[in-house]
Amino acid sequence: MYLKNLTLRGFKSFASATTLRFEPGITTVVGPNGSGKSNVVDALAWVMGEQGAKSLRGGKMEDVIFAGTSSRAALGRAEVSLTIDNSDGALPIDYSEVTIKRTMFRNGGSEYAINGDTCRLLDIQDLLSDSGIGREMHVIVGQGQLDTVLHAGPEERRALIEEAAGILKHRKRKEKALRK
Ligand code: ATP
Ligand code: MG
Repeated sequence: MYLKNLTLRGFKSFASATTLRFEPGITTVVGPNGSGKSNVVDALAWVMGEQGAKSLRGGKMEDVIFAGTSSRAALGRAEVSLTIDNSDGALPIDYSEVTIKRTMFRNGGSEYAINGDTCRLLDIQDLLSDSGIGREMHVIVGQGQLDTVLHAGPEERRALIEEAAGILKHRKRKEKALRK
């Protein structure tokens, strides 16, 4: 399994549709300050279901929608789609290629889709949760986050390790079941 391509349209500074193609292995994104490198990482987190505006470096969720520049009007929606190569079957779905898509409208509405079929956020989270990628897995390490890990107390450090080991998901399921 590897990330194949990421298409952004109306997401943060990417007003026009922009596709990044990745190969297996390591990808490096380079560019001047403010050119949109971190926005690409935000788009990855967002399409995989990130729900926190702060994690996306914004004040509110709609800050991900292209806000306009002096030469270009603001847009009404942000769209990101991510295609994952699944030829090794790591994702529990019968397709060798899986495209997940998230759309958000300025009026607050959101849409999610898997391979073109409308779905719920939960379906995307379930699809990704055993794969080692996705919102609740600590695979996106942001600028400055390493410092946070190094300075974390024992409890926070334990939570990070549990998350990385995939225990957190089971604990959440257990808590949910106990509430019922
Ligand atoms: P650095 O090297 O400093 O980390 P970077 O390449 O990571 O820079 P980003 O943080 O990805 O840069 O991009 C910042 C740019 O994105 C800023 O110019 C900011 O105005 C623009 N931007 C962020 N959100 C939006 C939005 N909603 N609409 C338009 N532009 C946006
Ligand atoms: Mg950056």
